Amino acid sequence: MHTEQQERHALTQDEQWLDAYDDVHMHVFGKPLRVLDHGEGTHVWDVDGNEYLDFLAGIAVNALGYAHPAWVKAVADQAAKAAHVSNYFATVPQIELAERLIRLAGAPEGSHVYFGNSGAEANEAALKMAKLYGRLLQDRQADDRPYRILALTHGFHGRTMGALSATWKPVIREPFEPLVPNFEFVEANDAEAMADAFGDEAKGPVAAVIMELIQGEAGVRPLDADFVRTVRELCDTHEALLIVDEVQTGIGRTGAWFAFQREDLGGIVPNIVTFAKGVAGGFPMGGMISFGQELSDLFSPGRHGSTFAGNPMGAAAALATLDTIEREGLVSAAETRGAYLRQGIMALDNTLFRAVRGRGLLDAIELAHPCAHAAMAWALDHGLIVNACDPSTLRLAPPLVVSPQDIDDALIILGQMPSDLPDD
Ligand SMILES: *Cc1c(COP(=O)(O)O)cnc(C)c1O
Repeated sequence: MHTEQQERHALTQDEQWLDAYDDVHMHVFGKPLRVLDHGEGTHVWDVDGNEYLDFLAGIAVNALGYAHPAWVKAVADQAAKAAHVSNYFATVPQIELAERLIRLAGAPEGSHVYFGNSGAEANEAALKMAKLYGRLLQDRQADDRPYRILALTHGFHGRTMGALSATWKPVIREPFEPLVPNFEFVEANDAEAMADAFGDEAKGPVAAVIMELIQGEAGVRPLDADFVRTVRELCDTHEALLIVDEVQTGIGRTGAWFAFQREDLGGIVPNIVTFAKGVAGGFPMGGMISFGQELSDLFSPGRHGSTFAGNPMGAAAALATLDTIEREGLVSAAETRGAYLRQGIMALDNTLFRAVRGRGLLDAIELAHPCAHAAMAWALDHGLIVNACDPSTLRLAPPLVVSPQDIDDALIILGQMPSDLPDD
């Protein structure tokens, strides 16, 4: 008893809580890095009082950082009014949010929004719409072969069955096969392979292509603008839908409201865009916009739904997030601060950093050798949160409110990172 007490005493609060976490949580996420307590702006504190500069933002979620006063007030005010009403009723924030997102996406008259609660749900809704569209194509073309949905190698769209069917990484997908049939993977950035996939006469029509314009989970890899335009043209020629998954890239993060609005990512117009992560600044929310009336009409009553869809707490949080992004000019700030960050990293002259890539504040450092996990752990021990998204890549996705001073502080830590960290 005595020794056990002593041992317990030797453990930090963080370690004690992590042991408790381990005892009761499914092990799907691996061991959490720290137990966090509270944050303010771009900084967050763990249960032992250690402070961190957060350049991950809850994986590109906390657009306004932690505890932004406008966000806190909006959520608190809505909580005091009505936290949930179900879809037998509507709320004003939900309606205002849908109007606003359609406007920010530049979607045409007749476009409609469906709200869900996560990125996977947003894509699930988009894929269900694509399936309804596939049936329409079959009818129109009097073709009873199964329609297909194309996705890209290295793409990530979520962990639910439909989204997982479009998610490339074999270790994530294969244990759950068979999944939804008639999904095919096409090599990212290979325009010829995409044309071949469309032209595969023996197979059925292509109902949709789903893709990210910057493959986030794959290591922040932007698609070639020419490839993106080719996919758009092929979709037009073959009457297929183009679903752009902006769960990670959307809502200002890349220096545009949506990445599809960037010329250097193709500058195309999608048929469906999905969003989630950053939209409500930390409140779980996601959704999709279908462009135009005809497509939107496919989701007739009963075709899809969710108890929490369009929840007023999420809608209020999202409106406060969008208001603040607009008021503080955070979309153009993402562009300039992202450029400042990338230039600063290259100027560090740390031999560990081979290259830097990204758009706006969705960036990655390519490491000279595969030590990303050790690099992440080293940065954390030195007060900076970054993320190892593959063995050779560190992802940087700070809150959109990140200041030049924060970037300078992060650069100091990154500059000191030893180049001989152990490989994963
Ligand atoms: C995170 C992510 C998803 C999944 O979102 P969840 O909220 O985790 O379900 C889907 N697509 C992309 C591009 C993402 O980055």
